[in-house]
Amino acid sequence: MAMKTIPHVLVVAGSDSSGGAGIVRDIETLAAFGVKASVAITAVTVQTHQGVQHVDPVSPERVAEQMRAALSANPIAAIKIGMLATAATIEAVAGVLSEHPEIPVVLDPVLASTSGRTLLTPDAIGALRRLFCACTLVTPNLPELSLLTDILGSPVDQARSLIDAGAKAVLVKGGHGSGADAIDILVQAGDAEQSFVSPRLDVSMRGTGCMLASAIAASLAFGDDLEVAISTAKAFVHSKLTEI
Ligand code: PLP
Repeated sequence: MAMKTIPHVLVVAGSDSSGGAGIVRDIETLAAFGVKASVAITAVTVQTHQGVQHVDPVSPERVAEQMRAALSANPIAAIKIGMLATAATIEAVAGVLSEHPEIPVVLDPVLASTSGRTLLTPDAIGALRRLFCACTLVTPNLPELSLLTDILGSPVDQARSLIDAGAKAVLVKGGHGSGADAIDILVQAGDAEQSFVSPRLDVSMRGTGCMLASAIAASLAFGDDLEVAISTAKAFVHSKLTEI
């Protein structure tokens, strides 16, 4: 009887002691999809649900070594990237990604916690933008999108400017917007925008960005195409929000 292969996703992200965000959320999400997780920890953070008390970045060399070890230990079918902490870590991660151009990569551009603490040093924004061209999809929320672009136009204009600068696909998450629906918009080079809609729920939960990006990576690891992966992941996050 043929053995069914369970795909692995490599998560490159920070820890959050409260379990509300970061690598705990990522692993929970991957487990819900029946995907195995490998990890490269980029930073250890001390957090409660109210705030971030300390951030200790892991050395860039150690982040790259963790990634290479995970990639040699397991058949990695997708990579999910979250908190990167510093420009030097971004450069180290970019180096490893360049060795595996065939693996799909989902990047959640984590800049700050909801409580306001910076999770990426401000001088690293340029390096983060340069990493976009190595990623299958980048998933900024509206505040992150504004910080990642110098464009004053609509969110779609801002996302298009990232595409013009080399990003392959940008999913603009509408969770921070207003209106009856939470609308995420996929912007890709040469294609018309695609909207992914779910009813807006009057609840809040930490770590939904981590969940969405991990769920997309899990779906891609099963071989789904990008649009299917996004709608599957959005439905997953919506269902988690209805459980609160
Ligand atoms: N801590 C870590 C390690 C994260 O990766 C993130 C977001 O991805 C956060 C904190 C921020 O989460 P929240 O905005 O829910 O506070």
